[in-house]
Amino acid sequence: MSEKTKAELLADELKYAPAHAMKQIDESEVQAADDFCAGYMQFLNDCKTEREVTAFMQKAAEARGFVPFDRTKSYAPGDKVYFVNRGKAIILAVFGKKSVCEGVRIAAAHIDSPRLDLKPSPLYEDEELALFKTHYYGGIKKYQWTAIPLSLHGVVYLKDGSCATVSLGEKEGEPKFVITDLLPHLAREQEKRTLEDGIRGEELNVLVGSRPFCTDSGSEMVKLNILHLLHEKYGMTEKDFLSAELEVVPAMPVCDIGFDRSMIGGYGHDDRVCAYPSAMAAFDVQNPEYTCVTVLTDKEETGSDGNTGLNSSYMAYFLYDLAAAAGCAGYEVLRNSKCLSADVNAAFDPTFPGVQEKKNASYLNRGVVITKYTGARGKSGTSDASAEYMSFVRQILDNAHVVWQQGELGAVDAGGGGTVAKYVAKLDVDVVDVGVPVLSMHAPFEVVSKLDVYMAYRAFKAFYEA
Ligand code: MN
Ligand code: MN
Repeated sequence: MSEKTKAELLADELKYAPAHAMKQIDESEVQAADDFCAGYMQFLNDCKTEREVTAFMQKAAEARGFVPFDRTKSYAPGDKVYFVNRGKAIILAVFGKKSVCEGVRIAAAHIDSPRLDLKPSPLYEDEELALFKTHYYGGIKKYQWTAIPLSLHGVVYLKDGSCATVSLGEKEGEPKFVITDLLPHLAREQEKRTLEDGIRGEELNVLVGSRPFCTDSGSEMVKLNILHLLHEKYGMTEKDFLSAELEVVPAMPVCDIGFDRSMIGGYGHDDRVCAYPSAMAAFDVQNPEYTCVTVLTDKEETGSDGNTGLNSSYMAYFLYDLAAAAGCAGYEVLRNSKCLSADVNAAFDPTFPGVQEKKNASYLNRGVVITKYTGARGKSGTSDASAEYMSFVRQILDNAHVVWQQGELGAVDAGGGGTVAKYVAKLDVDVVDVGVPVLSMHAPFEVVSKLDVYMAYRAFKAFYEA
């Protein structure tokens, strides 16, 4: 290899030139990334909803020695606890050598994903077809949800207060569901609609049956047959839909994408692609200096409101309990704490370059992305991490040789979005978004790079160990 010129050496020293992760890591680390992602892909297949992720993580934590948090107990360095919030969010904590009064390290990811929720009274029959009415959850492009296989997940609380758990459409041989779309032959009027309006909210009706209960005369026999089947399988009646949370999600299995198998296609990368690596970092961290708190939260996709979202006080209350046990005020712990808001960013898509500003976009395979601010229209609705905190995070990642890049969430005024960061910042905690770049974000089938997923794990682990 020829020696570098003076200009090349100076450029190496002075220029910020994010590069493909393959140029920055060796073959063994590529293999480690692929191995890590095999576990992630299995997790994605097994967990389609916040409740399923919570149950999975509780079990995984218990298998690794985590015990339910007890606020009356005192904990020693190395102790591991978990706290489940209403079955839809979970906190994992590994106690550090320092007192929690000196602050904790928080990684907060969300485990809800865009989907279709059944309405409280969903089931109806129209011309001998049975359908469910839905109300979409989170930001979706509605047209993407038609004519693809769907499954049904959730819980139904019956009249006696007992709970039936529902998961139908995932396993081999199970029936699936679908939202029908108009054939192109008859779509002349529909195709004049704007893309946003192409499929309307009240057109997201899920097809669930077409045979009557019996051939006797009587109205709504197909609906009756569905109620009969639901009663046989789950013990439920139509009224029990009122005390249910049933979520319709894509039923396509996760798979490798590309001849080189470098990417993963699947539903719910946003934000399980940060939840899984942050939980694995919590499981793998050994004797940390600071107490490590991994928060897997619900409700981010609808704005973090609700008592399982991070705009509620459950995370703060958990930290207040730790503070009380350590003999300091809750706000002291918060004020001294540092957080990575572990959420995805929009990767540059060569098919739609116009919505990104190339110099400040994130790219597939350039590693975990630090997003200094999110928001929209003049940084509205963002916490905007300080230079001091950016410096702190950057040094941690560099010292641990984590491949990372920075990225804005789209060009100025192209749109925008938010994460849990601002709700963490509201608690007087230093916070910045760090996560995985995603293609087709919020689609029923999103794409991420395996190397980036692994770098997210490395980043959260480095943060916990720093
Ligand atoms: Mn997200
Ligand atoms: Mn999202």
